[in-house]
Amino acid sequence: MDTKALLKAAEAQSVWVRDSLRTLVQHESPSEDRTSVIAAATFVEHLAEPLGGPVKWHRQKKYGDLLEIHFGQVRSSRKPVILLGHLDTVWPLGMLKKMPWREENGRYWGPGVLDMKAGIIMALAAVKALQTNHLLRPVTLLLNSDEEVGSPVSRQITERLAKNAAAVFVLEPAQGLAYKTARKGVGFYNVQVTGVGAHSGVDFERGHSAVLELAKLVQTISNFTKLERKLTVNCGVFAGGTRSNVIAENAHAEVDVRIARASDAAYIDKLFRSLKVSDPHCALTITGGINRPPMERKAGTIALFKQARRLAAELGFPLEEAATGGGSDGNFTAALGIPTLDGMGAVGEGAHAAHESVLIEHLAPRTALLAAMIASVD
Ligand SMILES: [Zn+2]
Repeated sequence: MDTKALLKAAEAQSVWVRDSLRTLVQHESPSEDRTSVIAAATFVEHLAEPLGGPVKWHRQKKYGDLLEIHFGQVRSSRKPVILLGHLDTVWPLGMLKKMPWREENGRYWGPGVLDMKAGIIMALAAVKALQTNHLLRPVTLLLNSDEEVGSPVSRQITERLAKNAAAVFVLEPAQGLAYKTARKGVGFYNVQVTGVGAHSGVDFERGHSAVLELAKLVQTISNFTKLERKLTVNCGVFAGGTRSNVIAENAHAEVDVRIARASDAAYIDKLFRSLKVSDPHCALTITGGINRPPMERKAGTIALFKQARRLAAELGFPLEEAATGGGSDGNFTAALGIPTLDGMGAVGEGAHAAHESVLIEHLAPRTALLAAMIASVD
């Protein structure tokens, strides 16, 4: 395989990449706004038309419809490579006014540009580069609409496609300059305490404070953290009560859990389910659980990374490997045992932040690397 020819083909598309990315960023697409996410997906469908084979829409009720696009021969003895992307962003409609698309200091700026609209455009450019070089193999691009809210509807579809895949490449941004070979699993728990409300002056002894009880529970829950096994528990929201002169009837905490080992899912869940109140007049309700299993650093993923590092060297740049505490749709496919490599999208800074931007100089080389990886998987 001529990796330099792939690089040339990627570089030749730089104007197309910029113009397509600008329009895609200008299609604001918060997870919660079904219509906007579908409009962004429809734009990608048009971009893919000259490149692609059959397109399949997965209709949804609450979130945007999912778009599945096939490239390369549909009837082939080679299993497809799945390219995983999401079109939804964390940015509400109207954010473009505050952080408009711009090209400055060698970067493209705008809401969702890094996470992960650039990755999606890179995927299309990689397919085009493969076509130009007669290297295209079966590829399925799946664009989800609900990743930023935990992939409640897309998870099943992602898992079904992955089961028959040669490999899964996730178009999330790189970690610095590195591809990601491990991600923590993510969980969420809601801890709800119901006490007995009362007037704090007139009826103090009748009251049973939900706030006090929750405060004790939060201490217990925070001690679930085990840094040595990379298990962390964070009570990020703590709320309760109504006024200072009322003994609080209700209080709740929202807890984020991160696990590095698959076996810790059952372990941590058991700890949450065994929580008890110390005041028998208070009631405790626990909801939630582990939402994404961890993407553990397994042999299939390591082999993909080594291949990527070889190809990057041919293309003229070093490639590092990283682990992250954040989850992605790659967590689901890796947990099924499908070789999964993540962070194959753009290089930049500020995902979910006001300075979200991608570095232009890395777009073409990373697109070429993505293309070379697609071609090289058996
Ligand atoms: Zn993302």
